[in-house]
Amino acid sequence: MRLAVVGAGWAGLAAAERATQAGHAVTVFEAAGMPGGRARSDDAGDGATDNGQHILLGGYARTLDLMRTVGVDVERALLRVPLRMTYADGSGLALPATGPRLLAAARALLGARGLGVGDRLSLVAMALAWQRRGFRCPPAMTVAELLRHVPTDRVRARLIEPLCVAALNTPMAEASAQVFLAVMRDSLFGARHAADLLLPQCPLAQLMPLPAVQWLQAHGATVHLRRRVTTLERQDDHWRVACASNADDPGETAAPFDQVILATPAGDAARLTRSLAPAWSAAAGALAHEPIVTITLTAPPRPWPAPMLALDADAIDSPAQFAFKLGDQPGDADRITLVVSAAGHWLERGSDAVAAAAVAQYRRVFGVADDQPVTLASVRADKRATFRCSAGLHRPARNILPGLQAAADWVAGPYPATLEAAVLAGEAAARAFVQSRPS
Ligand SMILES: Cc1cc2nc3c(=O)[nH]c(=O)nc-3n(C[C@H](O)[C@H](O)[C@H](O)COP(=O)(O)OP(=O)(O)OC[C@H]3O[C@@H](n4cnc5c(N)ncnc54)[C@H](O)[C@@H]3O)c2cc1C
Repeated sequence: MRLAVVGAGWAGLAAAERATQAGHAVTVFEAAGMPGGRARSDDAGDGATDNGQHILLGGYARTLDLMRTVGVDVERALLRVPLRMTYADGSGLALPATGPRLLAAARALLGARGLGVGDRLSLVAMALAWQRRGFRCPPAMTVAELLRHVPTDRVRARLIEPLCVAALNTPMAEASAQVFLAVMRDSLFGARHAADLLLPQCPLAQLMPLPAVQWLQAHGATVHLRRRVTTLERQDDHWRVACASNADDPGETAAPFDQVILATPAGDAARLTRSLAPAWSAAAGALAHEPIVTITLTAPPRPWPAPMLALDADAIDSPAQFAFKLGDQPGDADRITLVVSAAGHWLERGSDAVAAAAVAQYRRVFGVADDQPVTLASVRADKRATFRCSAGLHRPARNILPGLQAAADWVAGPYPATLEAAVLAGEAAARAFVQSRPS
């Protein structure tokens, strides 16, 4: 059968790879000049700039499998470190690499540095209660409500809020406890190494998108870059896919497809389905989004205890929750990446103000004297980085119409917007396509 995949983000590429493996004729349409969507690089070279710092987890089984299938050397491309949420002063939490997982998580919580004995015991009691209830809770419960028995603000501010914004990109007061518990179950309390941090050692383009495009082309699929799909039309039992710019190849895009997988952001999917499936389109269009700001700077070299450090963030003058120093950095300056997740209220002040506050925060946290240079290298603000993962949110279903499915990180599923959620969604849509009968 002929399948059109609209969007070459991680979901679209996963769907295309699965359907191609199963022997179908796949055509991918991507509006941008580079594949990868929100996890892309500006260009293919070593100096490429990524659309924001990405971290993978050891539990991203489907993403890692996809990377291997398209020829990526996963062990070289990703630096694996056991989960540590360490602050610059050495306080924080480190997950032991060995031992039964629940015990390891309990040891990590009991051993959390910088928290009182009462806090640590209450954290362990809370984790055991989550486990007893099968990591389930009412769908409308927020993470803040889930933690109402946690005694001190320090635990919330230093442990749970950073974990919540890192995983769900949504503040605790609004974030879905159900999704947060699903992430905890499958990472901190999941299989051994599931919570390992996997830090990219190459531009995002090389991590999967470009190798995937090469793999698809080598296996007979067609990938069109700079092809924005403008209309989807159902004609008899086929689909027609019209593009903004198809002058160089009108035959291909004019050809009918048996099925279509829509792997675009929610707003684009809503536009393309408005007249085809109004109720579904309205649900996709109604999703709220939350920004992420990524700031890179150069600073005087200093020893770093871990590639990723947690920072004390607040709403007043400290926007960044995490700082990264990645790879070998010889020379007289460190290159640091600061990440501001759930950055909606910060961006109201403008991205220059966020960057200035983050630079000042860096100086304060690491004690950089006023006469030493900390230089801003870049600021990237992705205003629609992820959907806002609110408690009680109803996400649009995968099936839109017969022969038309959605595949993206925002489609109904147990996880927040992540690379793994995108790949899982792409694979689910491809599986349904492969199992369907030609009409
Ligand atoms: C700054 C930032 C940091 C993040 N950090 C992490 C992280 O650390 N870990 C993690 O797991 N996840 C992270 N994420 C989330 C992750 O990037 C996303 O969940 C994932 O990339 C979503 O993939 P997708 O394929 O569902 O959608 P997208 O990446 O949005 O892909 C959709 C594609 O569709 C294309 N498109 C749109 N309209 C059309 C059209 N009409 N015709 C053709 N093509 C079209 C777009 O150009 C795009 O390429 C982060 C996201 C951002 C922005």
